[in-house]
Amino acid sequence: MLTFDQLMKMTFYGQFVAGEDHLAIRPLIQKNQAFGVGSVLDYSVEEDISQEEAEQKEMDSCVSAAEKESIGEDHREKKYKAHKQFSDRRGGVTGARTYFYADEAKCDQHMETFIKCIKASGGSSMDGFSAIKMTALGRPQFLLQFSEVLVKWRQFFSFLASQQGGDGTEALEQRLELKQLQFLTTLGAKGDLTIDMLDWNSLIDDRTKISDLLVVPNVELGELEPLLKAFTEEEEKQMKRMLQRMDVLVKHAIENGVRLMVDAEQTYFQPAISRLTLEMQRLYNKDKPVIFTTYQCYLQEAYDNVTMDVELSRREGWHFAAKLVRGAYMYQERERAKDIGYEDPINPDYESTNIMYHRCLDYVLDEIALTRNANVMVASHNEDTVKHTLRRMNEVGLSARENKVYFGQLLGMCDQISFPLGQAGFPVYKYVPYGPVSEVMPYLSRRAQENRGFMKGALKERELLWKELKRRLASGELLHRPVL
Ligand SMILES: Cc1cc2nc3c(=O)[nH]c(=O)nc-3n(C[C@H](O)[C@H](O)[C@H](O)COP(=O)(O)OP(=O)(O)OC[C@H]3O[C@@H](n4cnc5c(N)ncnc54)[C@H](O)[C@@H]3O)c2cc1C
Repeated sequence: MLTFDQLMKMTFYGQFVAGEDHLAIRPLIQKNQAFGVGSVLDYSVEEDISQEEAEQKEMDSCVSAAEKESIGEDHREKKYKAHKQFSDRRGGVTGARTYFYADEAKCDQHMETFIKCIKASGGSSMDGFSAIKMTALGRPQFLLQFSEVLVKWRQFFSFLASQQGGDGTEALEQRLELKQLQFLTTLGAKGDLTIDMLDWNSLIDDRTKISDLLVVPNVELGELEPLLKAFTEEEEKQMKRMLQRMDVLVKHAIENGVRLMVDAEQTYFQPAISRLTLEMQRLYNKDKPVIFTTYQCYLQEAYDNVTMDVELSRREGWHFAAKLVRGAYMYQERERAKDIGYEDPINPDYESTNIMYHRCLDYVLDEIALTRNANVMVASHNEDTVKHTLRRMNEVGLSARENKVYFGQLLGMCDQISFPLGQAGFPVYKYVPYGPVSEVMPYLSRRAQENRGFMKGALKERELLWKELKRRLASGELLHRPVL
């Protein structure tokens, strides 16, 4: 009699997951490789926990001791409630796995798994990738608070720019009091404090106190103030360990000749994820592109972020490397913005997301054509986007052999795009999920239940397969011959 695991392997799991561990997935990786299709290994387990458990874990890990103590204060109370409401981060998300923080030992375990994944990637091909999610590597409280700090600094700089715009510093002096001006001058003299202190080596150094970086400008008082009153010693250590785990992964990636793909996640974590990834790129992408960041083009700010980072890479002389996606958390982001009452960060409609994607892509393709120093993965199942990329590559004179423009699709999806691209010599990669049946199923079943668009994709694929089968029967070329 068939067991549940065997049945899953013959059906759903078998279609979308490569196997249980790094050994079991090897034949599939090699088979794809023979057709010119590489792999981005993506260990895909997700805990099977109830919504209540997820909410509890998230609240325990995202709210610091100091915040819990100040729950009585109005603004903290509001923030706490808002976070609680959206604390099951799986809601409406079908294209990505979700990690909830349990404890430091669990994060070490995730790191060990990622290391195995990196080694498997290095062992199975010369130019593999491994994907990582930062939320798997530590207490998300740090990403949340660091993001808040970065957003406040960004708002501060836009405020400064608006004050200085048009009528210059005179207007600024008229509007600000002397004390505030002195404070701005001090900031100017030191450079912008937070930003300068962020080089990767100082971040992971035990002597740097992370909470010292979590300061925000208070223009009214003319002072820098901590985001939160106090951090416990344990919280300090947890923040540091998250960064150190990332550093361990990068070093393993370099040793094994594997590129590290840092996935993008929710907007309340993403500024920190992007910033930390950028700091790693500044250090480790000097000779070649080792670390890839991810831009979500459904975000209204995507183009500004891409152009700012490309310009920085050009100025500082490191390799820009990025994956472009449309974004997996749209429904959750929209609902959260509406409920909490801030501006929806997502483009108003699908068409504007498409325009944003192609605008960001065109900018990076132009940069590659100009400097040969940037790299991009077009991670999309959208045929128009793939065709657009091929057309633009042709227009700006980029050939497939230069190995600067990659294509990415999920395993089991859009094979009608991936394999012809691979056979035509374009670097194309499948995100290859793997892991034990029981641990991958919670994520897979969520994906099946929630993503109606994804089922439409499968139908389209079936239609195309029938068409291809009929064509081959008619032309007498039924067996597929790989181009070697
Ligand atoms: C290899 C690979 C890696 C990925 N990595 C990540 C990652 O790190 N982080 C991440 O967030 N996602 C990631 N994704 C998922 C990705 O963001 C998309 O959700 C998914 O690929 C569908 O987009 P598409 O371009 O393939 O297809 P399409 O069907 O053309 O686009 C669907 C997407 O368009 C956007 N959209 C749809 N309707 C609207 C609307 N009304 N208004 C605005 N925008 C709209 C949404 O982003 C939606 O997911 C990855 C996907 C792939 C293939």
